[in-house]
Amino acid sequence: MTDPELEDDRPQPKPIVHGVASALSPLVRRIVADNPGHMTGPGTNTYLVGIDEIVVIDPGPDDADHLDAIAGCGGDRIRWIACTHTHIDHFPGVAGLKERTGAEVLAFDARDGLAIDRSLGDGDCIEATEFVLRALHTPGHASNHLCFLLEQERMLFSGDHIMEGSTVVIRPPDGDMATYLEQLHRLKALRPRLRSIAPGHGHLIEQPAAKIDEYLEHRAMREQQILVALDTGTTGVRAIVDRLYPDLAEELVPMAEGTVWAHLIKLEHEGKVHGHEPDGPWARA
Ligand SMILES: [Zn+2]
Repeated sequence: MTDPELEDDRPQPKPIVHGVASALSPLVRRIVADNPGHMTGPGTNTYLVGIDEIVVIDPGPDDADHLDAIAGCGGDRIRWIACTHTHIDHFPGVAGLKERTGAEVLAFDARDGLAIDRSLGDGDCIEATEFVLRALHTPGHASNHLCFLLEQERMLFSGDHIMEGSTVVIRPPDGDMATYLEQLHRLKALRPRLRSIAPGHGHLIEQPAAKIDEYLEHRAMREQQILVALDTGTTGVRAIVDRLYPDLAEELVPMAEGTVWAHLIKLEHEGKVHGHEPDGPWARA
């Protein structure tokens, strides 16, 4: 899910067309699901990794046309279906794609209605004849979030941990800001091994280092704004949201509230603020 008030204003690559496979590299193709929206940008990105043996990353929503397009592109060479996390724009297509292909379903855990064949933990690999895809457990946006690293092409499939065109919503209790930032720092340390980031939403990110720095700076800025808001007498999550996100569409308010609350919980653990409930008063320690 996205934090849509923060838009990239750099020139965009060629427009995304739903349902059509687009080659991103020798080993990777992308098909974008037709579910655009505030939370999904242009739609959910489904990636096909490999030629002879294929891993599908995030089949997206349960949309027959989208699943037919994936199956039509990969056919019986689709051996694995891997999920970055169990939010509804990423996994409900799993069952239908498994029906079409018989592929093995892999994710961190079975949750939210996702049935899996095998669990992947941090460092576990999917070993195909032409490539290895390594799972990295990256909690923060969701506690069961995985990124996948394609070492042959130095491409990171970042799910909703990093996306293009917006920042990421962190909603407690499953979302955790301190953990999210830890995992961003961990990905930052991988930078020499990264050439690009293939996000769950939006275009391929060709400057991974700059994007990760931008994310870290954005979160630090939000944290500072929250502290300033508390210093000047703004005490509740909703009031802080109104101050920090003045023109936010009403349906996005819960996402912004979640992210502000996640920052407050992190600051509370650091001893910088006092407070408990999202509605209750918060103050500087
Ligand atoms: Zn998503």
